[in-house]
Amino acid sequence: MRDRYDYLIVGAGLSGLVLAERLGSLGRSCLVVERRNHIGGNCHDRRDKNGLFYHVYGPHYFRTNSELVRAYLSRFTDWTDAKYRVNVFTRGRFWSFPINLGTFRQFSGNPAATEADFKGYLERSALPIASPANSKEAILSAVGPELYELFYRGYTEKQWGRPAEALDASVCRRIPIHPGLDERYFKDEFQALPRDGYQPMFERMLEASKADLRLETDYRDVVKGVPHGHLIYTGPIDEYFDCRYGPLPYRTARYALEEIDAANVPAGGFVQPVLQVNYPGPEAFTRTVELKHVTGQSSRHSNLVREFPSEYRPGESDPNYPIPGAESDDLASRYRGLAEKVQGVTFIGRLAQYRYLNMDQVVGAALHAFDKMA
Ligand code: FAD
Ligand code: UDP
Repeated sequence: MRDRYDYLIVGAGLSGLVLAERLGSLGRSCLVVERRNHIGGNCHDRRDKNGLFYHVYGPHYFRTNSELVRAYLSRFTDWTDAKYRVNVFTRGRFWSFPINLGTFRQFSGNPAATEADFKGYLERSALPIASPANSKEAILSAVGPELYELFYRGYTEKQWGRPAEALDASVCRRIPIHPGLDERYFKDEFQALPRDGYQPMFERMLEASKADLRLETDYRDVVKGVPHGHLIYTGPIDEYFDCRYGPLPYRTARYALEEIDAANVPAGGFVQPVLQVNYPGPEAFTRTVELKHVTGQSSRHSNLVREFPSEYRPGESDPNYPIPGAESDDLASRYRGLAEKVQGVTFIGRLAQYRYLNMDQVVGAALHAFDKMA
């Protein structure tokens, strides 16, 4: 520990570690303070008792179109190419998802349906909404009420604790809708997982940064006693300001790990047909993830993480998702306005910007912030 640091970085997630590493490369001294007992933030992964990887805070599928982001992270990890495949389970069967011609063949009961048939269906069913104001309108205007009802309404309500009408159109639009037989969940050019897991990648970043690290420490308990030049804050933006305008809403979840011994794994080696199965029905959980489908690990055992969403309550859980929509828009803007006026502090990351950002966007934003600081 030093008497003084150039930077005090709050949060050892992706944002905090990228900035620590970049600033360290210029010889700047950083102290990273993290209130959890590990680095990596929500991207943290581990191995189960059988040595199989699992993602502790829900599935983290890395993908990007940014050569800059890919090249940067590739300095700290090799990759395993991943085909992220998702099915929906509802009405007693598995469905091809995201919605594509294969889904339409199942839905229409016509295995010979063509792309033209599917397009015709969409033209008849999609509602004429010129500029969808929310996630419900976004999906109704893309596929119409039947497919909305089958795949989106229940899942969205469970995931967010709010109806799709309450969410920004961008939320449900994250998932593509394919006219042909494409079943990719994401369209990004590069889709891969760190070969040895995320954790070794983060450890290499931290090591390269030469930063000091304090785990299980809330920065508010140490900030006054640690002289520093600049603060980089990656925690929840409202919390920084003691929720002076009222708390922002966040969604969280419980991620239940099931370690499945070989005796209970079917002969094919997997317990579910694809990497992720989404459940839009009455089950309390939204999805199950069998990561072994994409890690490249070969084992007779397997594991599943089952995700039970709930509303975030400070002190009880971690805030995982900002909730983009009319309910939070004004409040989030007011906090962002406050943040812009604070001298000597950079607010960056999914929670500090209150934006539903993917990992590659977070890395891109951190690299950009570094360029400005440097
Ligand atoms: P975080 O990872 O949240 O890190 C912030 C850190 O700050 C946390 O570790 C927190 O403990 C710490 N902190 C907060 N306040 C304090 C304080 N007062 N004192 C000390 N420490 C503090 N992205 C993808 O690209 N692909 C995916 O498939 C994907 N799936 C996801 C699934 C789930 C369930 C979730 C929740 C997110 C997913 N993401 C995914 C998004 C990804 O997790 C984020 O983009 C990324 O983790 C953001 O990094 P961050 O450093 O900004 O935030
Ligand atoms: N969604 C849905 N049904 C699905 C999958 C997704 O209604 O089977 C909606 C839901 O509102 C979800 C959003 O689309 O929150 C974005 O899905 P994604 O899989 O990207 O969510 P994340 O991985 O970020 O939790």
